[in-house]
Amino acid sequence: MNLFKPKFSNGQVLEIAGARLVLRTNARARRVSLRVDGARGEVVAVAPNERRLSEAVDFAHQRADWIAERLKARPQGAPFAAARPISLRGEPVRLEASGNAAAARFVRDDQGLRIVSGGEGDAFARRVERLLRAEAKRELQARTEVHAAALGLKAPAVSIADPKSRWGSCTPARGTIRYSWRLIMAPSWVLDYVAAHEVAHLIHADHSPRFWAVVKQLLGDEKAGRRWLRAHGHELHAVGRGGA
Ligand SMILES: [Zn+2]
Repeated sequence: MNLFKPKFSNGQVLEIAGARLVLRTNARARRVSLRVDGARGEVVAVAPNERRLSEAVDFAHQRADWIAERLKARPQGAPFAAARPISLRGEPVRLEASGNAAAARFVRDDQGLRIVSGGEGDAFARRVERLLRAEAKRELQARTEVHAAALGLKAPAVSIADPKSRWGSCTPARGTIRYSWRLIMAPSWVLDYVAAHEVAHLIHADHSPRFWAVVKQLLGDEKAGRRWLRAHGHELHAVGRGGA
């Protein structure tokens, strides 16, 4: 065996604790490290170069118990169902079956806010998601317009999608921004942070200090939103995904 040929390569996928173990090299990494990606249910092992990937694999095996625990603890997605609370703008909202075939709607009374929907099983879940998507679109469009106006820009075209891990993406050349509908479940100031972030990309396509200066100009404090998404983002991505 050639001692100088690395045993593992960047992008290679192994298995650990019943999950995918993805090997990555990053020239800027100083040491080997592990990251559990709860939303994807996979583990990423990083090393500064391919030769040190075997060290990262050894490290992952030493920490197999810790990995198994982290994967078990991740929020399990469950389809929207009656009596199961969800989060809207960071507040709990009850889901209630109306027993007919009507579309989902918001109902506010002395017991607070709830979503009442017709349909059963998948049909119920689809109606609830449709309502949340419409709400997300309305809110994200409004916040996007506010931030674009503050920068003296024409309002971009806003669309809503369900990407696996991103919160938004901006195509400055076309003046379009696409957001994850899941942001409507986060506190409003987190949604607002993502809107400001994407609008700032209309001016700077990168994440340079100049870009962050624009975000800061729009929000004052841009760090709280980033922190919240890092800590809770995987929970939003798990909602309604049926434990996938
Ligand atoms: Zn960005």
